[in-house]
Amino acid sequence: MITIDSNFSPEFQASIKAGIALIDKIWPITQTLTFTPIRGRTRNGWCRRDDENTPLYTIGINKNLVNPNDIIEVVIHEILHSYAETCYDHHGGEWKKRADIINQRYPDIHIQRTGHLKKNISDYKTFVMCNNCEHIYGYTNTPYTLLKSIARNEGRFRCGQCNSSDLVKISKATALEIEAEKAKQKEREIV
Ligand SMILES: [Zn+2]
Ligand SMILES: [Zn+2]
Repeated sequence: MITIDSNFSPEFQASIKAGIALIDKIWPITQTLTFTPIRGRTRNGWCRRDDENTPLYTIGINKNLVNPNDIIEVVIHEILHSYAETCYDHHGGEWKKRADIINQRYPDIHIQRTGHLKKNISDYKTFVMCNNCEHIYGYTNTPYTLLKSIARNEGRFRCGQCNSSDLVKISKATALEIEAEKAKQKEREIV
């Protein structure tokens, strides 16, 4: 059985389901999975075994992810940890074998062994900002579907922080400026 926490937005849930479908096609999921939203700037996701004797897992997925492809990759990465054959392998052994198979079968998917969220805004190439809460999302790869949706004003994607669909593409210079201003404001708050 698979449960997806209703605190994920409908769009986010759709991406989780897309990830589940891709991996279930190759290695049918019989284990019990519960998807739960996590926050923070350090981890994309985690997978935790909840019981030693039954295949019961909780999978945390970072709510800050907005690019559907990123979500799908993290979902597959974490589900890969939850099979009887892979659950003691960390990122080697059967886990790695299966990740390689996925990467070969789906050209858009790149399962990585470690997927830490980048901490420094200058590490990114493309930037999308939420006009409502000013949260900035950075991408190392161009998020084509997201940018197309923004350009066409389709409102298909939502901010993982405030759920607003008022997203806008910004330049790197603007992103750095806004982040610097936010940092200054934070300093003032501490003082
Ligand atoms: Zn992992
Ligand atoms: Zn927002």
